Amino acid sequence: MTATVIDGKAVAASVRESVAREVAELPVAPGLATVLVGDDPASSVYVRNKRRQCVAAGIRDLHRHLPADIGQHALATVIDELNADPTVTGILLQLPLPAHLDSAALIARIDPDKDVDGLTPISAGRLAQGHPGLRPCTPAGVMELLDAYRVPLEGSHAVVVGRSTLVGKPQAQLLLQRNATVTICHSRTRDLPAVCREADILIAAAGVPGLIGSAAVWPGATVIDVGIHRGADGLCGDVDYEQVRGVAGAITPVPGGVGPMTIAMLLRNTVHAARLRMRAVEASGAAS
Ligand code: NAD
Repeated sequence: MTATVIDGKAVAASVRESVAREVAELPVAPGLATVLVGDDPASSVYVRNKRRQCVAAGIRDLHRHLPADIGQHALATVIDELNADPTVTGILLQLPLPAHLDSAALIARIDPDKDVDGLTPISAGRLAQGHPGLRPCTPAGVMELLDAYRVPLEGSHAVVVGRSTLVGKPQAQLLLQRNATVTICHSRTRDLPAVCREADILIAAAGVPGLIGSAAVWPGATVIDVGIHRGADGLCGDVDYEQVRGVAGAITPVPGGVGPMTIAMLLRNTVHAARLRMRAVEASGAAS
């Protein structure tokens, strides 16, 4: 069997197009405030890409570049200002922050209705309890890929390898919300290949290059590779692509699979946040 290759670039492009259409229909263009602290080269590249794609979709670029030595209090004040600014629809605090800053406290300060990365404890709680809210971009992008390729979720067994706050846990909850039967694996899971072989849908987000080989994949399973690693031969994922594509029914490549979805979902979250805000303003108008 040769797997269908899930084309994340194409799905991301169609998400970006639909976001651009939705932005054009809004009475006021949403604004995204990316906050970059310092000059870490990788973070600078990520933020530049996010800003470029946000402008291309018609979203206003309200970027803030802050010095690497900014203090906790000063950065908290910037977040408070962005929370209070009605022209700011979404706030994205680029991680990692310099070591002297308490990232968790700063993320928790972001207004959950502007939390376009979906990382505040309130956003996580809304997801865990099944309430509407902004979802973390990478796992939301995985759901979009599964839907684009019409992978049946309800009643399917999904195995998520990884339990991070950023990917694994929200991924499992998003799958659960769609009525999949979900197993979460992690670094202490015994006999990982045996557990993974139970999966109709296998999502690898462990951050270990080539962790998932063909012995961990049931023939015909859908395999989504969230991992990204830069090696001597370029980028690779957590899945041994050459081995697994001979067994899986469908597979995401690295690069060109999950990666392009993350920024596309950030744009979608920004439009979603704009709609939440419009509804809140309308509701407060109706109540007064
Ligand atoms: P993390 O290090 O925070 O979490 C890794 C998780 O994998 C942990 O829960 C750990 O228990 C589990 N794990 C580690 N080794 C394991 C093993 N041998 N067997 C089973 N489980 C194991 O990482 P993260 O932030 O969740 O990211 C995971 C990967 O996804 C990384 O490669 C990262 O670069 C990538 N990533 C990609 C995107 C994207 O846009 N495509 C976004 C975020 C993260």
